[in-house]
Amino acid sequence: MRKFPAGTSTYHALARWLTTATDLTAAVIQINGLDEFADTCSGAGKSMRASDARAIEMMTAYAAGRVCGLCNTCMEHCANHVPVADILRYERYATDYRDLRRARALYARLEVDARGCAACGRCVEHCPQRMQIPDALAAAHALLA
Ligand code: SF4
Ligand code: SF4
Repeated sequence: MRKFPAGTSTYHALARWLTTATDLTAAVIQINGLDEFADTCSGAGKSMRASDARAIEMMTAYAAGRVCGLCNTCMEHCANHVPVADILRYERYATDYRDLRRARALYARLEVDARGCAACGRCVEHCPQRMQIPDALAAAHALLA
């Protein structure tokens, strides 16, 4: 992803957006360390600036095709009942939260894991994030198994 506009960051822009530009009444945000905590809290309740809006745009563009939105739409089209959203969520625990142990423990408990994917592609056209789901599942399995 390209460099963010000066004066903002992932956590700061998201905190501004969540607390002033959405109807959310509560959010649970995992934070790694005091620096992230201070960065996040410093944006809470403050209105969006142009730099924050640009940062959100950049994150959204970066996520398209890369980050699962956890909508579960793909599940409706999977004859093999692969829990795509769960698997890709566990992958985020490992990569975003840097909690590989927890991610692997959760993955090991699945009745059907990424190996259940037959790569038929039936779900792909229904994904609003335009994820290449079979490839994403294979990558998740390589990380979590
Ligand atoms: S590509 Fe995999 S996850 Fe998608 S419908 Fe086919 S078997 Fe299910
Ligand atoms: S349809 Fe796409 S965004 Fe929704 S859960 Fe499946 S992979 Fe994630």
